[in-house]
Amino acid sequence: MEYISVFDMFKIGIGPSSSHTFGPWNASLKFIEKYFDLFQKNPLKSIHIELFGSLSLTGKGHATHIAVVLGLLGFIPETIDLNEIQTALESIENTHTLLLNNSIKLKFNLEDNIIFKNEFLPFHQNAVRYHAIFNDNQSVCETYYSIGGGFIVQENNLKTAQPINPFPYPIQNGNELLNYCKTLNKNIKDIVLANELSLRNPEAIDIGLNKIFATMASSIYTGCHTPGILPGGLNVKRRAFQLHKDLIGNFTYSSQSEWLDVLKNLKPDFKNTLQWITCFALAVNEVNASMGRIVTAPTNGSAGVIPSVLFYYICFENPQATPNDIQTFLLIAGELGSIFKKGSTISAAAGGCQAEIGVSSAMAAAALCNMMGGSTAQVLIAAEIALEHHLGLTCDPVAGLVQIPCIERNAVGATKAIQAANLAIKTNPDDAKVPLDKVIKTMWDTAQDMNFKYKETSKGGLALNVNMADC
Ligand code: SF4
Repeated sequence: MEYISVFDMFKIGIGPSSSHTFGPWNASLKFIEKYFDLFQKNPLKSIHIELFGSLSLTGKGHATHIAVVLGLLGFIPETIDLNEIQTALESIENTHTLLLNNSIKLKFNLEDNIIFKNEFLPFHQNAVRYHAIFNDNQSVCETYYSIGGGFIVQENNLKTAQPINPFPYPIQNGNELLNYCKTLNKNIKDIVLANELSLRNPEAIDIGLNKIFATMASSIYTGCHTPGILPGGLNVKRRAFQLHKDLIGNFTYSSQSEWLDVLKNLKPDFKNTLQWITCFALAVNEVNASMGRIVTAPTNGSAGVIPSVLFYYICFENPQATPNDIQTFLLIAGELGSIFKKGSTISAAAGGCQAEIGVSSAMAAAALCNMMGGSTAQVLIAAEIALEHHLGLTCDPVAGLVQIPCIERNAVGATKAIQAANLAIKTNPDDAKVPLDKVIKTMWDTAQDMNFKYKETSKGGLALNVNMADC
């Protein structure tokens, strides 16, 4: 049985896409890790990379080629200094060389060594293949699939049995989670924490969750304080800046923590609360669209939903929320995301936007409902409601960029999550008609039926009807 940690669902990385940026970046790192010793012993002549399927069709807009290169250079998404990205790319452009893993110099240029193949490989829509050729004309070749949310699998390992599941409470679906809570008289957090403790010690969990929150908070803060136009050519204006300016008014602050204190004292009315939720979500996804640092939650395209709902919770719903409450929120959201991944998909290339914004909205709804005092059954109902009303949502990013409709879609997903949590908390579970696991199955069935045009190919929907000239 597959086991997924909350820390697999929330990964600190760089925008704009988890499947098209983060995953291929990790694939490069894996490829180097596997062969670096060999590369050091046996001189390399060249290396080239083929991008298949959706990675080819929307790879340029999603910065897949850049991510692949940054991985080959040996940069780690979580720790790379964002200023180094441009410098590294300019160096390749000027010298036509690449320093593999920061040590082996190779002839390289982006146009010739990265090939966009307009064909799909059978296992998954997102595939990247590496060819390394040695001076003696021997070669190695590896294919990786980026299966959503930054998760990757290597072709030769597709059938490899999962390592033994170390979780004391293995969970495959919502019903199993509900049963554990009922029979053991525990809440969801107890179960999730017990599972996490089988992988890392309490201190590591504490540090890890705090880091995730700090990154989410900082992406909101950065987005709210950065004006300008997003890169990529669509001429999309960053809107969080002006929205934030209008909302914050004359309040002053000199640091991020002072700013947070200001927000906690605002007590906005309904209209302004809605504007703040929008502002938080836009901020994160504008940072994401400009290759800034965000948390995949569960993907980069949907990275704004959970931080927006979490900020709504700590600023307006419960300004007394403690760091422990924030950790609980993240643990619940992460667990629900893992159930969606196991039962369906979190890859837009496999399931359209229902798999990204739909799942992130369901994760946020569940976490918020839990923090509002919802029972386990109500928490699952909240996730179900949020996902139910995203079923069939297509992925059609204009010009292959994670901007239109993606950025606004996060704001709408966050709002839906809050409504779903509030609906669930007023629902008697005995009256609920659609179990969470049935909506997850329905999402998967819908994904199977969805025309490939609407699965992150930019060949249908808005991507077809809106073009650069309109922007
Ligand atoms: S349309 Fe949705 S799934 Fe597609 S790239 Fe945008 S946010 Fe991601």
